[in-house]
Amino acid sequence: MQIDLSQHAARPEPFRAQVCIIGAGIAGLTLAHRLAVQGIDVALLEAGGLALTDASQSLLTQAHLSGERHAGTHEGRFRAFGGASLRWGGQLYPMPAEDAAWPIPASTLEPYYAAAETLLAVDHLPYEAQAFFTAAHTAAPAMLAQLPGLKARLSKWTPFSHRNMASTPGRELLAKPSTTVYLNAQATELLLAPGRTHIEAVLVHTLSGQTFRFEATHFVVAAGTVETSRLLLASCSVAAEGVGNQHDQVGRNFHDHLTLPAATITGPAREAILRELRPWVFQGTQHSIKLEADRALCGELNLNPILAHVAFEEPEDSALAVVRDLLTSRQRGDVLATVRRQARRLPSALVELESLAFQAKFRHRRAIPKTTRVVLRLNAAQDTPSQSRITLADDLDPLGLPNPRVDWRITTNEHDTFRAFAGYLRERLTPAEGIEWQAGLFDIEQPLQNITDARHAMGGACMGSDPGASVTDSNLQVHGLTNLHVASAATFPTGGPQLITLPLMALSLRLGDRLAASLNS
Ligand SMILES: Cc1cc2nc3c(=O)[nH]c(=O)nc-3n(C[C@H](O)[C@H](O)[C@H](O)COP(=O)(O)OP(=O)(O)OC[C@H]3O[C@@H](n4cnc5c(N)ncnc54)[C@H](O)[C@@H]3O)c2cc1C
Repeated sequence: MQIDLSQHAARPEPFRAQVCIIGAGIAGLTLAHRLAVQGIDVALLEAGGLALTDASQSLLTQAHLSGERHAGTHEGRFRAFGGASLRWGGQLYPMPAEDAAWPIPASTLEPYYAAAETLLAVDHLPYEAQAFFTAAHTAAPAMLAQLPGLKARLSKWTPFSHRNMASTPGRELLAKPSTTVYLNAQATELLLAPGRTHIEAVLVHTLSGQTFRFEATHFVVAAGTVETSRLLLASCSVAAEGVGNQHDQVGRNFHDHLTLPAATITGPAREAILRELRPWVFQGTQHSIKLEADRALCGELNLNPILAHVAFEEPEDSALAVVRDLLTSRQRGDVLATVRRQARRLPSALVELESLAFQAKFRHRRAIPKTTRVVLRLNAAQDTPSQSRITLADDLDPLGLPNPRVDWRITTNEHDTFRAFAGYLRERLTPAEGIEWQAGLFDIEQPLQNITDARHAMGGACMGSDPGASVTDSNLQVHGLTNLHVASAATFPTGGPQLITLPLMALSLRLGDRLAASLNS
């Protein structure tokens, strides 16, 4: 069921549900779906409407940036039902096996990976390279054995038909009588009960000027990384420091993945790399290989978690770029408009699509046309705990909420991590002929050019076992509050070398099971 609050008359009595979830992005939808299938009555609040609009998006660009330019704050957030799933890349990768900064071992999340994969319609092959090639009855690339210090794992790509979660679990939720999706419903305050032991209600404002009150047994903030810190800090009518912020931890340890195009690969190196490392395709799922620096190498070279992978860039005017536009139009929900726009180029795109389908079906590999630019990319974790921080600015948005400020830093150690790992690869990747390293990459006098964030914002409401140094516990419950949880990458104290959504979905599913068990007991 859905209710558009921008069209709803004022009502004196509150809306009620067993669980009230704030934010209908990837985490909120995953959690709501898990609760709904267990019979829990859910109110799902979404600040935007069913479709992305310029007016709704413009509220997000009011966020202030200081320090380095964090592109994801303005360009990587989507204020509509489905959140970032409306535009994300759909690539899945698990957390590293061990990470001491997390209060739970990675193995806690593993049982939930299969359920997340089912929601996204990818296969259940293993992520570790050796187990993957054994399970897929395929020979592992010989190159892997020649690269000591690197551990290979493979990611999975969600098919375009399932990337937009508004149209998969989201559609199911809209049809369920036990779930109500409230649209144009921006939560503006989590109201602390007088004893400050729990949340008694959430206040919601609409751009049409109405205020609504939501009451629930449990509240979950699933508003994305920046908005999660913003909402906790702005909820200050009872406690001036905000909710969950007794120890001044909200907004701290903001971090992202860093990404750097390190080299272009042409000639003999391109041939060898494509033969050995171009993606594999099984049961409709594409798998891309990642070469992670192992623990010993990280120790020896003083590296943050880092990996190398091969990226493929299509020239704008190529048939494959048209194929890509057509496929992503399914995710964007504008297939007809795209077909009309690309009509003239459809015949060549269909030939390309046929070649891709043939290679995938009979060779289990992705076809890479000659015109594709092959790039060696490095992705790295930032230093954590970081000095980057989300705070509130002095100005207000049209709903009366202080705008967020994202102060993002890139450290010298992070530059050094890229340089040292690139140097290690330069000595080992063969044939070297055709690998053109980015100018200045090995010049220690110069800061590196072209490092950007990966639009994987994390931190600000980190989980941890010490309430003085974190915001939530290992079950995502805000310290000191019995009925408030956070389902967001805001809780990630670290994020491994690349990608966050698979562990985020696993955490959301685990939280769903815990809340359902407590409500059903
Ligand atoms: C271009 C792009 C590509 C990406 N590719 C990948 C990838 O390939 N693999 C990967 O692992 N990750 C990827 N990511 C990251 C991934 O999209 C995010 O990790 C993920 O979407 C986070 O999910 P979320 O539910 O926390 O936030 P979101 O998906 O951002 O959802 C938050 C939702 O909450 C709503 N909201 C916010 N504040 C409020 C409020 N106060 N009241 C009510 N509602 C509110 C928002 O409108 C939004 O709908 C990509 C991101 C981008 C931008």
